[in-house]
Amino acid sequence: MTPKSSKPETMHLNKNQKTLPKRGLRLLCPDLMVESVTQINPQLLLKRGIKGVILDLDNTLVLWHREDITEETLQWLETLKSAGLKLCILSNSIWSLRSERIAERLQCPNVRQAKKPSRGGFLRALKAIDTTPQATAMVGDQMFTDILGGNRMGIYTIMAAPIHPKEFAYTRYISRPPERLLLRHFRRNGQIKHPKGE
Ligand SMILES: [Mg+2]
Repeated sequence: MTPKSSKPETMHLNKNQKTLPKRGLRLLCPDLMVESVTQINPQLLLKRGIKGVILDLDNTLVLWHREDITEETLQWLETLKSAGLKLCILSNSIWSLRSERIAERLQCPNVRQAKKPSRGGFLRALKAIDTTPQATAMVGDQMFTDILGGNRMGIYTIMAAPIHPKEFAYTRYISRPPERLLLRHFRRNGQIKHPKGE
């Protein structure tokens, strides 16, 4: 399935956003929400002082349990690399050979069995790309793993809509319903920022 292709020219920037650590429910709120990873503008990441991007795999870059990446996503990853951003895959998947092959294809480090939202995997990813949390963005489709984990580390968090409804049953039936409720809550409170929201 091809991700949505809208490419807004601007992205919400709030330089003060990371000066106050998030607490409570805010730990689950992404700094930015996009419909597709391709909406993330590398130049605007650089303007935030970001030097590295940690990438979730399943339903962010590839379909769940698959390894083919759309041409559009590959091009976007190339624009990140061309902009000088370092990339690292951070996946909870236990199918490590698959993520190894994808990382090899993208020529970037791969942190396997990350156990997001635990800090351990994030620390390994930061070490692999030699960046600090303040100079790093996390891109992922799940609030309770990618976003919570990134926010706990003080990383700039970007939540991308899952590229396909097919996913791990636990995610689909246990994680997604409260995730939807919380997104609605954050939206109602004006806490969700979109690329066009500047
Ligand atoms: Mg995912």
